Amino acid sequence: MPSSEQFASDNYSGICPQAWAAMAEANRMDEPAYGEDIWTARAADGLRELFDTDCDVYFVFNGTAANSLALASIGQSFHSVICHELAHIETDECGGPEYASNGAKLLLGDGADGKLTPESIEHLVTKRTDIHYPKPKALSLTQATEVGTVYTPEELKAIRAVAGKHRLNVHMDGARFANAVAALDVHPSEITWKAGVDVLCFSGTKNGLALGEAVVFFNRDLAEDFEWRCKQAGQLASKMRYISAPWCGLLKDNVWLENARHANRCAARLAAGLEGLPGVTLRYPRQVNGVFVDLPDPLQATLRDAGWRFYNFIGGCSRLMCSWSTTEEQVDRFLADVRANL
Ligand SMILES: *Cc1c(COP(=O)(O)O)cnc(C)c1O
Repeated sequence: MPSSEQFASDNYSGICPQAWAAMAEANRMDEPAYGEDIWTARAADGLRELFDTDCDVYFVFNGTAANSLALASIGQSFHSVICHELAHIETDECGGPEYASNGAKLLLGDGADGKLTPESIEHLVTKRTDIHYPKPKALSLTQATEVGTVYTPEELKAIRAVAGKHRLNVHMDGARFANAVAALDVHPSEITWKAGVDVLCFSGTKNGLALGEAVVFFNRDLAEDFEWRCKQAGQLASKMRYISAPWCGLLKDNVWLENARHANRCAARLAAGLEGLPGVTLRYPRQVNGVFVDLPDPLQATLRDAGWRFYNFIGGCSRLMCSWSTTEEQVDRFLADVRANL
């Protein structure tokens, strides 16, 4: 069995052909550095067109930097950021947001299926208002969430109402934003600026790039001097076109959306094949490109011995992630191995 048999992560995947071709095209000629090139202008224009609004766009290397710098730009060091207890910014960024903001504290809320509720946000904002407590200034939502669920436009609007009432800026961690758009079948604007999102970190990496995330400010006032923040943090790529050109490859003909739809379809097939098998239960509803499932321990061990790679997360449940490069045959091989070893 090839060692690439995996549902470990969507970032185990390679570069999709369209992004690769765009990178090759950008490699044909010399171009100005630090984002002054035509590719960066095209990619930023492409994102403005995609979101159908005049937003400010920046490209950085990875998601931790995108989130950390975006959050630092929408509050001060004495502010706090409300997020779900399962949020990547809390669990998997090594304190990056706190570091980038010189100490802004994360306040952890809750809600079923990895989603913050308006009630939880309201509670965190109102439980303390004195000077000894870091003042809530921002809200961070992950779309799709860390457990593979999505906020609907209605849920986002209900959250926006609370955010508006308490003057919280809204950040969206869009590591799997494409998968959320594909699952909800909405225009990207419906779950961003039209739902009150001030800044989106839109991942290219998990969608099919080698690397690169777009930080998209819908609230352009918050982007003031953001390029200096990126430079100071070591996130200004000198050969920027190698991040931005592949984005052009993703944006042309909606490749980003096709990649996400494909990954979501593979996960749906996987979930359908697992559901109902004895001893196998889905921990969260399958809505995007990940399946979160309780598998008996001996079965997990057998699958791993057979060469399948996947991680166990929250409470020991197994996370099976699909990407643009997952194939239906691979899903079926995995399901056959599961059935053979139950
Ligand atoms: C992958 C991921 C990120 C970004 O991670 P990096 O490794 O820093 O690129 C951010 N948020 C979520 C929810 C993720 O899954």
